[in-house]
Amino acid sequence: MQTNHFDFWPKLTKTITVPETSIYDNLAVSAVRYPENEAIYYYGNSISYRQLKKEVDTLAGYLQQHLHVEKGEKVLLFMQNSPQFVVSYYAILRAGAVVVPINPMLKTQELEFYVKDCAIQNGLIGQEFIDTVNPLTETTTLKQIVVAAYSDYAGDALEDHLPAEVKAPPASLNEDHLHGWSEALQTKTDPQDVEVSADDLAVLPYTSGTTGLPKGCMHTNRTVQANTLGGFYWARPTTDSKSLATLPFFHVTGMVQSMHIPIFSGNSMVIMTRWNRETARQLIRDQQCTHWVTISTMLIDFLANPEVKSEDLGSLYAISGGGAAFPKAVGEKLYQLTGLEFVEGYGLSETIAQTHFNPPDRPKMQCLGVPSFNVDARILQPGTNEEVEVGEIGEIVVHGPQVMVGYYNREDENESAFVEIDGKSFFRTGDIGRFDEEGYFFIVDRLKRMINASGYNVWPTEVESALYDHPAVQQACVVGVPDPRKGENIKAFVILNDSYKGNITEEEIINWSKERMAAYKYPRMVEFRTEFPTTNSGKILWRKLQEEEHEKVEGS
Ligand code: AMP
Repeated sequence: MQTNHFDFWPKLTKTITVPETSIYDNLAVSAVRYPENEAIYYYGNSISYRQLKKEVDTLAGYLQQHLHVEKGEKVLLFMQNSPQFVVSYYAILRAGAVVVPINPMLKTQELEFYVKDCAIQNGLIGQEFIDTVNPLTETTTLKQIVVAAYSDYAGDALEDHLPAEVKAPPASLNEDHLHGWSEALQTKTDPQDVEVSADDLAVLPYTSGTTGLPKGCMHTNRTVQANTLGGFYWARPTTDSKSLATLPFFHVTGMVQSMHIPIFSGNSMVIMTRWNRETARQLIRDQQCTHWVTISTMLIDFLANPEVKSEDLGSLYAISGGGAAFPKAVGEKLYQLTGLEFVEGYGLSETIAQTHFNPPDRPKMQCLGVPSFNVDARILQPGTNEEVEVGEIGEIVVHGPQVMVGYYNREDENESAFVEIDGKSFFRTGDIGRFDEEGYFFIVDRLKRMINASGYNVWPTEVESALYDHPAVQQACVVGVPDPRKGENIKAFVILNDSYKGNITEEEIINWSKERMAAYKYPRMVEFRTEFPTTNSGKILWRKLQEEEHEKVEGS
């Protein structure tokens, strides 16, 4: 069955040629073509493509000659968004090694899992994480660490908003295995040539772990290039574009959309180390940002800032994103303020960001979009693997050049992660969805998130989406709670909009839901919270909230 109906999208062909080049080559080309263009804007400091490439090459030489980093070696990158993150990432690639970007919110014991999982020997870290990472040199294979101070690259713009870790001067490093960033760059070591092919591993992002133990997704230069080019063709930035980079670079959406695509395009990334809605407003206004890739939780917070006005956002040409459900009410508020429709995309760590994207001139609301270039996406009936018809729900499976080679060292899981259809290997996303007659895909929820209440299947995202229509609801997260009679009961955690705090009860939200949702679906329990646990990529950790509920029931 052919499910990729792109025919309404005549401006582009459905396929693009993925070049046989490496990710590092994109930087090398931009540095030759646009040496004086701004590559990075960082709190008042501007870094050109010429300078960025020079620093990348020097650091690569240092990694090779002083830390003896070898081709194919996995190197830890444990930093917040900063110029050093970008320099480190491309330097690791220039040395022919593999970037292992890890969520810098992790604690020592958590990080240990990753370091051991892929036997890391060398790492590049932000200096605020020395105490987190250093103990691992005693308990794991980790031996050498390059330490970066973000203040080295920061200007003094937005002084009032600079995160403390950006202001902090470089720490003095008194152990032999800790190497200072400036010391590394002052060596002016030229990198040695390394043969790198399109099929060599480039990056090993880990699944975010909202379900099960994290797994490293093996991505090659080819898989990353596929989505760098694909995203470039969808977003169409020019060399004058400015992209606000607020999503964490360690996660695939921020990595590809806010770092690789600007570098491929030769345009500027305006980097924020920590999310702050007022800083974002000022940066968009003062730097005249044109592109912003974000996630719904961040956009909800941004729009809740009473200072945000239409005039601040006049330079924005495209606001896009994905990674989590996007509530309709948020899209409507954004449209009122900017006249822009949120351009949603869909993808996973396993596909190094997007497999689906909404055509910017014909997006649909609360929709994943159409399959991206070269992507064949289908929907299979769970259990039978039969393809479903238009409008029916089933598991989304994808085949395309951005799909990972496999999970690192997880032979068993690799077998069940793929399914063969028409002689092609499709990745099982674990997401339940459907497509319409035009080939646009919609997500229902994660397969594993389904709640079974009295035998009815309830999809939390659908209930959350309905809750967002209540004016008091700023954020909602719905989970299943064990119930002796029904199997599971439905509970909604809610963050209230400021003006409703103290003025509304949980009971009122339940009654409101009862009037609008089917009896098996509406939340029987509501709990107000002031914040939700989230991954550093901004996704709500629904599993954590669910576990807390399970523990309460088991403990009672
Ligand atoms: P990650 O590997 O952390 O990028 O998580 C991938 C998961 O994020 C997918 O399997 C989906 O469940 C979810 N996701 C990605 N894009 C969207 C979207 N546009 N709407 C809803 N969920 C999404």
